[in-house]
Formats: sequence, structure tokens, C-alpha cells
Amino acid sequence: MNFFCNDLEGAELDQGAELVPDEVQEAVRTLLRWVGENPEREGLRDTPRRYAKAWLEYCQGYEEDPGAHLARTFEEVAGYDEIVLLKDIPFHSHCEHHLAPITGKASIAYLPKNRVVGISKLARVLHGYARRLQIQERLTAEVAQAIWDHLQPAGVAVVIEAQHGCMTGRGVKTPGVGMVTSRLRGCFLDDKSSRAEILSLMGY
Ligand SMILES: [Zn+2]
Repeated sequence: MNFFCNDLEGAELDQGAELVPDEVQEAVRTLLRWVGENPEREGLRDTPRRYAKAWLEYCQGYEEDPGAHLARTFEEVAGYDEIVLLKDIPFHSHCEHHLAPITGKASIAYLPKNRVVGISKLARVLHGYARRLQIQERLTAEVAQAIWDHLQPAGVAVVIEAQHGCMTGRGVKTPGVGMVTSRLRGCFLDDKSSRAEILSLMGY
């Protein structure tokens, strides 16, 4: 039985090896050597392949159009004209300047005019843009823009709070410091009381 399981794992590993071209693995080995490591030691032997595959996953968003998640809308909203808010959605991304992790949470809201989407779609839009190389400001703006374009709501508000690996683990080394970015459109931008309401619902 044990053998059988091992064989299966082996088959999976072999498959993975084919997916990562030699030149990509060699690039990772070069980087490892450059930082003072020995890529041939046992613990690192399979690291170039794993690292490359992990990066494909981190950058999966390039394979999709995040806005497409908003294509299927419901127009019968039974007169619902109040705020829809998905709060504190955890996400991971990577900064385009250091390829360091960005981890945080996003709150996404819109005030529908006549179209709503399944609530999980808002998170899918976020992840579609987050699984790319990003800066937090652009991520915030892209999520807001996709909702604005596809749902044509009366307003949209996106607030993202995140920690940047390039700040917490290197450079100024300031763990625990979060960066907050926001993008407001429509009524949440133009109308003071709408803005106050949405920011307080989000906990800001
Ligand atoms: Zn960075």
C-alpha cells in the first residue's frame, strides 16, 4: 500500500518536472548561488521546480479577465437599493518592485442601480487582480473600476489594508505596519453622507 502511494507521488513529481523548463529552473539556481547558497544540497535540489510552480500560481490572474466574473448579473432585485458590502476579504498578492508578498484584506461595496451579482463574485474579482504582480494602489483601483464598468452601480467603494513583505522583512523593517488605500466612485465619492456611511460600515 505504501509503495502504491509513493509511486503515485512520484508520478506527480515527474509530471511537474516537465512543466518547468530547464532554463527557468537554472535561473532559480543562479539566484540561489548568488545569495550564497548551494543549489545542489539536498534540501534545495527540488526548490527551483517548486519555486517556479509556486510563481505560476501566484500569477494565475494573468490567465483570466477578472471582470468576466461580473458578466452574469441579476436584474430582478425586488427594489433593493441599499449598499452591498463584502467585508474583510483576505487576499495575497506580490509587489512588482521586489516580488515580495503583500497580504491583507479588502472591503468591497457597491450601491446597485439595477444590477447585482452573486456576492462571491466580488472576491473573485479581487483575487483575479491580486494574483498578478501589483502595487496596492493599482489593485484597489482595478477592482473598483471592474465593478464600476460591469455593474454600472450608483457607487462603488474599495478599501484595502495590507502589509508588504518588502517593508516588513527588508529595507526599513517595520513589521505590523499596514498600508491603507481606497478608491471611491459615484455617490461614495460625491456624497459626504454616503461616504461616511460606507466607511463606517467597513469599520474605518
Ligand atoms: Zn515591494
